[in-house]
Amino acid sequence: MGFVDSAIAILSKYLPRHHLMLAGILGLGLVVLMVLATEEAAHGARFSLPPPLTALPHEELATHPETDSAAATSDATGEFWTQMEVESGDNLSAIFTKVGLNAQDMYKVLNSTEEAQVLNKLYPGYQLSFYIPEPGTLTQMKVLKSPLDGYVFTLNNDNYVVEAIKRTAEIVPTFKEGVINDSLFMAGQRADIPTVSIMEMADIFGGVIDFILDPRQGDSFSILYEEKYLDGEFIGNGEIIAAQFTNQGKQYIAVRYENETGDVGYFNPEGESMRKAFLRTPLDVFRISSNFNLNRKHPILNTIRAHKGTDYAAPKGTPVRATADGVVTWAARNGSFGKLVVIQHNGQFETKYAHLDDYGQSIKKGARVKQGQVIGFVGTTGGSTGPHLHYEFVLNGVHKDPRTVLDQMPKAISIDPSEMQRFRSQTRELLVKFLNHHDDSRLLSLNGSGVSEQHH
Ligand SMILES: [Zn+2]
Repeated sequence: MGFVDSAIAILSKYLPRHHLMLAGILGLGLVVLMVLATEEAAHGARFSLPPPLTALPHEELATHPETDSAAATSDATGEFWTQMEVESGDNLSAIFTKVGLNAQDMYKVLNSTEEAQVLNKLYPGYQLSFYIPEPGTLTQMKVLKSPLDGYVFTLNNDNYVVEAIKRTAEIVPTFKEGVINDSLFMAGQRADIPTVSIMEMADIFGGVIDFILDPRQGDSFSILYEEKYLDGEFIGNGEIIAAQFTNQGKQYIAVRYENETGDVGYFNPEGESMRKAFLRTPLDVFRISSNFNLNRKHPILNTIRAHKGTDYAAPKGTPVRATADGVVTWAARNGSFGKLVVIQHNGQFETKYAHLDDYGQSIKKGARVKQGQVIGFVGTTGGSTGPHLHYEFVLNGVHKDPRTVLDQMPKAISIDPSEMQRFRSQTRELLVKFLNHHDDSRLLSLNGSGVSEQHH
């Protein structure tokens, strides 16, 4: 398990609803580490946005006056500069020793300014540069938390002064599309879509599509997402701007929208939130994708009639997520259910998760859980012949097919009517371009123009 996975796991405990978004954010932060090498080549068709969206603020606000120290100091590369990337297990004094400085030098920087505390919280991937024109004299030190964010410490009258480095990446909207032959994961790979983005797409549509049961061969999808560049160099992927998934002939469309107060969400073209009270599936499709093949005859034992539940075949240990916010009313063995978790939601609804191998962290009777939170792990306890999740959805004490019930649920929170005009003006033209892009690119490739085209 890599650092990204653990970091996502930790963060998702606090913000389970947004863990995929966080994956995206982390992906940006850690992109230098992990993503760059593998995804640098994967640039698809570029896509220009209508004016309102190009103006969307993606700039981080500098806490200090903006400086261009990064450019200034990187010009000064020479024999006196030592650069290094922080690796897992590194510590500051070892790093200082490595570049020929002693503890005194280290404390001098550390005690110089409040910002120097960044040195006490080094993470793998941080870039450190030392300018040491004569042995033992650290004239300048640069700490980059990401290519966009860091500090420069400069020796001035026997003390260090600090300047913040805040740079803004150039955002290049990138269009990709895929068709499902086997799994969403494989389709994403074939289309050169960053894994983080395809996970984020599954998260965006998680309230309307059960990505375990619903996808069929021939389903198609397209996404428009941000690629970030700095000085012309690809530095990572940003957020999804719009996404479309056609499942069994039914098209779902989502567009990112930031309201005037800065809240960001995904909405359908009518302004209805994509965030629903219930997730369609209690399993994370990406945790089982490697073992999951839609071409196989019966990957899922979908036997709602037989025993009032849905059985999801999945490898032992696959995380099971709460499909909605609620309170745990049972987390213990229960006869043929084996290890069972029951969650009460909002008075009328109850969900049950059976045959678990184990319970999620701090999942016990009375615990509050958030949608998407891991409440257990797939197993084969109780009356079960192989690893699978038995999932029940109960409304007012009566077992229901969640798919039918959720289709009948009242509409999710929508854009306020007073804001609809703003929403429309920011999304309509974008969506038209996005949804027509497929035909456009076909036309262009027929004319031999290749894949990389610009829209105007
Ligand atoms: Zn079952």
